[in-house]
Amino acid sequence: MNATAGFRPGDDYHADPDEAALTGAGGLASPGGAGDPAGAGGFASLAGTGVLGRLTLARSAVDRAAQHRTDTAWLEAAWAGPGTRVLVIDDGRALARFSEGGAELVFVRPAAAPHGIRFLLGADAAGVVYFGVLGPLPDPGSAPGARPASLREIGQLLGDRDAGLMTHAVALANWHAVSTHCSRCGAVTEPGDAGHSRRCPVDGSEHFPRLDPAVIMLVTDPAGRCLLARNSRWPERRVSILAGFVEPGESAEQAVAREVAEETGIRVGQAWYLGSQPWPMPHSLMLGFHAEAAGGQEIRVDDDEIAEARWFSREEVRAAVASGELLLPPPVSIAHRIIEFWYGEELPGAW
Ligand SMILES: [Zn+2]
Repeated sequence: MNATAGFRPGDDYHADPDEAALTGAGGLASPGGAGDPAGAGGFASLAGTGVLGRLTLARSAVDRAAQHRTDTAWLEAAWAGPGTRVLVIDDGRALARFSEGGAELVFVRPAAAPHGIRFLLGADAAGVVYFGVLGPLPDPGSAPGARPASLREIGQLLGDRDAGLMTHAVALANWHAVSTHCSRCGAVTEPGDAGHSRRCPVDGSEHFPRLDPAVIMLVTDPAGRCLLARNSRWPERRVSILAGFVEPGESAEQAVAREVAEETGIRVGQAWYLGSQPWPMPHSLMLGFHAEAAGGQEIRVDDDEIAEARWFSREEVRAAVASGELLLPPPVSIAHRIIEFWYGEELPGAW
C-alpha cells in the first residue's frame, strides 16, 4: 500500500517532515481550540474560509494593524502601554499553559521581554496590542503548568486568537533567523516595518518575508476513490495525499498536475482550489486543490519520494484505519481537512 506526500528531495519541507507528514504528537487527538466556530469573535475569525471551513492555522482574532508598522510614535506608545502583551518565540517554540483539552499561550509584559528582534502582531477588539520577540523563552516556573511547545504540537489546542498570533510570530521568527544578510551585497540587514521587512544599510534594498507556496491535492478517480500515498521517509502505515512545491514560472494548477504525474504517473484534468493555510515550518503556504483522474490509469510510484500509492474507497479507509493498517495526518494539517472533505464526515481513528 501506500504512498505519500511527495516533496522533492532536499527541500526544506523534508527537513521538518512536511505538513502532511505530521504525526499525532502532543495530544492532537484533543478537540482543542480549533472547534469554537464562534471563535474569539471578530471580523477576522471567519474571514476567507472556503469549502474546507476554518483551517487550524488559518484562524485569527487579531487585526494585524499593518497601518501602524511604520509609525514609530505609535509603536513606542504601544510598547509602553500597560496592557501590551508580548509573545516570546525561540526556535519555533513558545511557552504554553495546558489545560484539559486545550492550551493557551503565556505572554509577558514588554518590560519582561528579552532583547531581540521585535515584531508587531496586531491589536484585538479590546485594543490590546500584541508583539512578538525573538529570544529566550520565559522561565516555565513563572506560569504553573506551562512548558515550551511548537506550533505543530499545540496548533490544534489553541483558541483562535492564540493560533493566529503564534502562526504569525513563528513565521516571522523563522524568516528573520535565516535572513540576516542582504542577498545583493552581503551586508547585515536591519529589521524594519515593525519586524515585517529588513533593510540593507549599504545599498538601501528592502527584503520581505519569504513564502514557499506548496500545493497539496485530493486526487480522485471516476469511482470517487482517493489517492493516498506514503512518502519513502515515513514509517510504515502513515499515508497522506500528494503534495509538492510550486516551481518558479509555474501556476499552482500546473504544479498540481506535474506533482501528481511525477510521483504516481497519474494524469489529472482541471484542478479546483479548496482552501489554504500557512505552514510556517519553516515558511510554506499550503494551497489545497482537488483534481480528478481519468479511469484506467496505472499507478507508477517514483520510488524516490513515494514508496507506495493506491486508490482507497471511503469504506476501505474506514476499515484500514480501524485495523491499524493506515495512519492519517493529524487535524492541525490541511491534509487532514482535505481528506475529511472527501470522506464526508469526521475521519475515523485517533491520532
Ligand atoms: Zn545590500
